Amino acid sequence: LDFLDRAVTVYGDRLGVVDEPDQPAEPWEGLTYRRVGELARAQAAGLDALDVPHGARVAVVSPNSARLLTSFFGVSGHGRVLVPVNFRLTAEEVGYIVEHSGASVLLVDPELADRLAGVACKHRFTLGAVADAELYRFGTDPRPWEPDENATATINYTSGTTARPKGVQITHRNIWVNATTFALHAGVTDRDVYLHTLPMFHANGWGMPFAMAGLGVRQIALRKVDGAEILRRVAEHGVTVMCAAPAVVNAVLAAAESWEGEIPGRDRVRIIVAGAPPPTRTVARVESLLGWEFIQIYGLTETSPLLTVNRTRSEWDGLDPQARAEKLVRAGAPALGVSLRTAPDGEILARSNVVLEGYWEQPEETGRALADGWFHTGDGGSIGEDGYLTISDRKKDVIITGGENVSSIEVEDTLFSHPAVAEVAVIGVPHEKWGETVKALVVLAPDTEATESELIGYCKERLAGYKAPTSVEFRGELARTATGKLQKYKLRRPYWEGHDRDVN
Ligand code: ATP
Repeated sequence: LDFLDRAVTVYGDRLGVVDEPDQPAEPWEGLTYRRVGELARAQAAGLDALDVPHGARVAVVSPNSARLLTSFFGVSGHGRVLVPVNFRLTAEEVGYIVEHSGASVLLVDPELADRLAGVACKHRFTLGAVADAELYRFGTDPRPWEPDENATATINYTSGTTARPKGVQITHRNIWVNATTFALHAGVTDRDVYLHTLPMFHANGWGMPFAMAGLGVRQIALRKVDGAEILRRVAEHGVTVMCAAPAVVNAVLAAAESWEGEIPGRDRVRIIVAGAPPPTRTVARVESLLGWEFIQIYGLTETSPLLTVNRTRSEWDGLDPQARAEKLVRAGAPALGVSLRTAPDGEILARSNVVLEGYWEQPEETGRALADGWFHTGDGGSIGEDGYLTISDRKKDVIITGGENVSSIEVEDTLFSHPAVAEVAVIGVPHEKWGETVKALVVLAPDTEATESELIGYCKERLAGYKAPTSVEFRGELARTATGKLQKYKLRRPYWEGHDRDVN
């Protein structure tokens, strides 16, 4: 809706968006909100000149950049539907999304132009510097568009762990509710500086350009995630807020261990962790090693994404670090306006103004996801008496061994507390007698050692016997998504070949 208008009117002279230093200097490196407004309007005028109607889909493929951020407003801020695409996808995968969404315009980052050269689309442009971007040569006076809060603003494709990716339709109203509740719960004001560590095409990242612009927050784009680089940006730009997946938090913690001098942002940064369950050890170390405030949120692409928030409460002051971590490791209490309940089988159901409109051209999937008027998250969990949600596992990741349910998250959390474990994925593998058995795939921390029997023994001391892994395999790395989430279906697949079971 009018997020950028507000930024231009109220905060027009502010340096609004800062790109990487090696990106084209004019004008992308540092943009005032007034300039972001002009560029977005110029882009919309370009789409008018191409006769791209309001409501048409425009796909954008780019790592985080000022250009990508501007196009959020140039496209969906002026009546078209933005389709932000994961820049790590192959040309074939991008082609599928362009075709499925019916996008008539494709905008690609200059560095991806060669790789995606084969993707067919009616109009295609590089998201280049203004000087060479044809799209920006039609002035800054786009056709008027009456914002409709129920219109689709973006279609965000899920990563597609089961079949082909699904296009999640998000309305302007969804964006608005997500942005305002996020800002409220994270306490964002115009004094903040936001670092885009999560890719903007992804659920937890994509709402931020809107929310932050509306509040006049300075936004720093980060193209490539790297722990030390994040610390440097925090120091250089006075960053106060960022969102990160647990894997990114772990990368920052690793960089902090060898950081010389005081950790930047101590007592200033709020780090909002989402996208996967954070290990308890990670939570504790954010406070002790970094001195940053740890806030957890839970949600999905389908929920814009914010469903729950866990932030320190005054009642928890004075608790020792471990006890605090145990409070903060839960997914959190429902955000304002969200109702949660659990189905008899433990699936978390949600109702809220952030729930998707539907899956693009997939009415059956939409019907399933929204059955009985509740959104079905596919996650299992429990809601405590205090209203706080604890995620036990994704339904598909629960391991059923000898009739007992094992939460892979719980076993991972236990293994992660072992000092030699740098990364871990716990999966179910076939077992003749028990149906499934628990297996841990472990990446060891540098210069450490641990044996299979030692790690199994470590779990047996801390967990019920049936939850302890029966085997441990050591790996150099684990399959992850662009936001650092474990791809357990990929890790499981080789063990289930020849078995009659869908392990996706
Ligand atoms: P796809 O739907 O394409 O397979 P995905 O499931 O990872 O990918 P997202 O919408 O990015 O899609 O992620 C949502 C999922 O991430 C949730 O369903 C949940 O399993 C997990 N998740 C998100 N936040 C948290 C959290 N704070 N704690 C535990 N799990 C989380």
